[in-house]
Amino acid sequence: TEACLTAIGKSGALNAFVHNTPEIAHAQSAAADERIATGDAPDMCGIPLGIKDLFCTKGVPSQAASAILAGFKPEYESTVTQNLWDSGAVMLGKLNMDEFAMGSSNETSVYGDVINPWRREGSDAALTPGGSSGGSASAVSADLCLAATGTDTGGSIRQPAAFTGIVGLKPTYGRVSRWGVVAFASSLDQAGPMTKTVRDAAIMMEAMASHDAKDSTSYDIPVPNFEAALTGDIKGKKIGIPAEYHMDGMPAEIEKLWAEGTEMLKSAGAEIVNISLPHTKYALPAYYVIAPAEASSNLARYDGVRYGHRAKLAAGDGIDDMYEKTRAEGFGSEVQRRVMIGTYVLSAGFYDAYYNRARRVRALIKRDFDDVFAAGVDAILTPATPSAAFGLGEMSDADPVKMYLNDVFTVTVNLAGLPGISVPTGLNSEGLPLGLQLIGRPWEEGDLLNTAYALE
Ligand code: GLN
Repeated sequence: TEACLTAIGKSGALNAFVHNTPEIAHAQSAAADERIATGDAPDMCGIPLGIKDLFCTKGVPSQAASAILAGFKPEYESTVTQNLWDSGAVMLGKLNMDEFAMGSSNETSVYGDVINPWRREGSDAALTPGGSSGGSASAVSADLCLAATGTDTGGSIRQPAAFTGIVGLKPTYGRVSRWGVVAFASSLDQAGPMTKTVRDAAIMMEAMASHDAKDSTSYDIPVPNFEAALTGDIKGKKIGIPAEYHMDGMPAEIEKLWAEGTEMLKSAGAEIVNISLPHTKYALPAYYVIAPAEASSNLARYDGVRYGHRAKLAAGDGIDDMYEKTRAEGFGSEVQRRVMIGTYVLSAGFYDAYYNRARRVRALIKRDFDDVFAAGVDAILTPATPSAAFGLGEMSDADPVKMYLNDVFTVTVNLAGLPGISVPTGLNSEGLPLGLQLIGRPWEEGDLLNTAYALE
């Protein structure tokens, strides 16, 4: 904890931590020491963590990296963070992210851009850590904490993990409670661990997961000992390679990484099978209808009345002016874009054409996965991202759709509610980390982690 607090103090250039909590860290680590002395110490005991700013932490600023939540200190603790504290973990502070978790580069935060600790060989140009859990990824990669929490609505754990050379696990929808996690798109959001190794991910996942009566979508299913699943034995496991993920224009280095990963699993005894997930090409458009639709509804609560920021009003302004001015000032441009798209696709006259059609596509995408798993496939191997980390401004200065294309390999997993993990598997020719993604059967995170362990 002390070493991490010192490292955080020197890490201003990364802009990963946005609020430090040394008093809490000291109190929790003293309590952890006592637990360890009495022999009652779970594996997370005394482990210093960074917490994404999307999690409500009692009495500690929790702003979802948005101006609209300026000054918001929750009265309560999210279930996931409470579970971590109950298992003895230590909070170092809150981590930067894209505003309301909308983004793939951590460039939409009110706190400013997060910088990736990695550089292209021979270049000083700053790169993004990916997003939206960019602060979590940079912090773990730069050894500012031993692990961090992330959230993943369309790839926000897996893509930044791949860009920074760490492990990121998005669990099955319903495995962890969403209570106290600021909502983006409620049918897609899940929290998960971002760690240095697969073993750490297994240990932290077990501590985060629980059935929670306060989240009606949290599933009442036992939480297994995920670490015990890490035998390294994947003999006879069937690994599917989906034809549709060979995208047009995919860089040769990503194809090569994917082929190498496939070989690695094969030489560990897995059986490799070619599979088809025919509706893959509709996933990104469906996601960018469903996620904004849910966001526009979830973000309606930020109206200047209940939380954070309220605009200064002029004489004669009414309540509608107060809403409009507050939301115009409090939300950044990407959040405003999502709210507008979402409101549009949910409006009478367009609801069937966009929202309902996207929901039907979502059902077909889920069915593609169900069919493959029913045919005996245990896990699916794909690239985690279509490229290595990109430069600041490289995508955000372009058409927003260019940024959205980054999520092409990750959104299917959220649409289908499946567990997915990103594992660092090598460096590209410029010395940047690349990651592969494994997608597993629902509720079988243990099996998925074990396959990831063989790939690590
Ligand atoms: N990049 C995606 C988006 O902007 C996913 C974000 C996320 O998973 N929170 O919506």
